[in-house]
Amino acid sequence: MFEEKVALVTGASRGIGKAIAIKLAAGGAKVIVNYAGSKDKALEVVEQIKAAGGEAIAYQCDIGDFGAVEKMIGDVLEQYKRVDILVNNAGITKDNLLLKMSPEDFEQVVDTNLKGTFHTIKCLTKPMMKQRYGRIINLSSVSGVMGNAGQANYCASKAGIIGLTKSVARELASRGITVNAVAPGFIETDMTSVLDDKVKEAMMAQIPAKRLGSTEDIANAVAFLASQESSYITGQVINVNGGMYM
Ligand code: NAP
Repeated sequence: MFEEKVALVTGASRGIGKAIAIKLAAGGAKVIVNYAGSKDKALEVVEQIKAAGGEAIAYQCDIGDFGAVEKMIGDVLEQYKRVDILVNNAGITKDNLLLKMSPEDFEQVVDTNLKGTFHTIKCLTKPMMKQRYGRIINLSSVSGVMGNAGQANYCASKAGIIGLTKSVARELASRGITVNAVAPGFIETDMTSVLDDKVKEAMMAQIPAKRLGSTEDIANAVAFLASQESSYITGQVINVNGGMYM
């Protein structure tokens, strides 16, 4: 499905990004497993992919740092000559009620989640335009679509990703490049494991499917948007949330 394709997945050392990297590699893509600090975990993902017969490398880069992203993309293009699939998955939370939220915590979340997504797209737009092919998939969130008390910074960043996705989709559609967002609901990862039981129960009550999502649920949607079969889908937000928002 992804033979001869090169995929860059940000934040692929853990959680949803890891599942996406493994899924794309299983389909034949050469995968760059980006991470911020978890080198050992990123290398484990690479080893897992190689053990299954795939090809991958790990690359440390803080996506919030434009200079570092420029260097990463430059190195990747030198090694692989192209990037066909870009998955902007890396993300962080720094939850607090607005009254208690510091400007620093707002800024850090927006810098990583929203500006990080802009940085990678900015650096890959020209190469993708030249190759007249690209699949860009940005991870938003049900929180970015609905809003969520205690997550003003996170929701602003994830809603911003939707606006960014739609604008870039309009700019690049004629060049064979699709740009879509996937908005996961409540998925079992490190990010949600820190929530207390009361919050988890309240979330569960809102999910018609009556279960949390798995990382594979998200990877399956991303893989479809990353495939050639999705070529007439662009500027969309695919909600993968067990019916939590419809
Ligand atoms: P996670 O388990 O906390 O993993 C986050 C990943 O992002 C890690 O690989 C981390 O790398 C990487 N990362 C963080 N900051 C980075 C930076 N500045 N530069 C590069 N990489 C960075 O998160 P997750 O739950 O899998 O979430 C993945 C994405 O889905 C996020 O965008 C999140 O907002 C979104 N999402 C998740 C849920 C959910 O319920 N879990 C719901 C909706 C949306 P290190 O390991 O090196 O720190």
